[in-house]
Amino acid sequence: MLNEEKAVVVFSGGQDSTTCLFWAKQQFAEVEVVTFDYGQRHKLEIECAAAIARDLNVQQTVLDMSLLNQLAPNALTRTDVEITHEEGELPSTFVDGRNLLFLSFAAILAKQKGARHLVTGVCETDFSGYPDCRDSFVKSMNVTLNLSMDYPFVIHTPLMWLDKAQTWKMSDDLGAFDYVRERTLTCYNGVIGDGCGECPACKLRKAGLDRYMEQRSAGASVGADV
Ligand code: ZN
Repeated sequence: MLNEEKAVVVFSGGQDSTTCLFWAKQQFAEVEVVTFDYGQRHKLEIECAAAIARDLNVQQTVLDMSLLNQLAPNALTRTDVEITHEEGELPSTFVDGRNLLFLSFAAILAKQKGARHLVTGVCETDFSGYPDCRDSFVKSMNVTLNLSMDYPFVIHTPLMWLDKAQTWKMSDDLGAFDYVRERTLTCYNGVIGDGCGECPACKLRKAGLDRYMEQRSAGASVGADV
């Protein structure tokens, strides 16, 4: 049933947050998005997010978070830092406390907008290992936000326990599979849709898509037999 309240989605224009945006639009009567500009390698990420927000007719607030780059030069914002991900180590795209900061700023904005629901596409199952994307952190953060602003925030993490194939399934169930596939930007090299195919983000996205497409065609042939 539609929740009559208002939600703010933390929104980057990538596969995960766009799927969350479709989910939120189905769940809540009113939805807005907040996008963080922290000097991403590709300004295109901000433009892509703005285009999706326009397409889906949701109000977008872009917040300047360029201080993140000052605190933690990293591969997402600095072209002189290579994107690497060694087994068992945090990838070079990691920024300490990034999600902590994003959720804090999103909550402050949400309260100003009269929204108490926050939606974020963080996930424990994509193996990136960011500590501030784990479920235990998000629950702790929820309590902290409520205490800090004396306001009953609820943080929703619809992707927390999904793998990438299940996230594709969710977009399909929401009727947004083609849109998410063609219009979102996950690629570190700034290629919209299926991406460059080479970077770690593209490989993760493609592996999930391939697995989901197998399940989907298997399901379709089962359906055809009935
Ligand atoms: Zn790529």
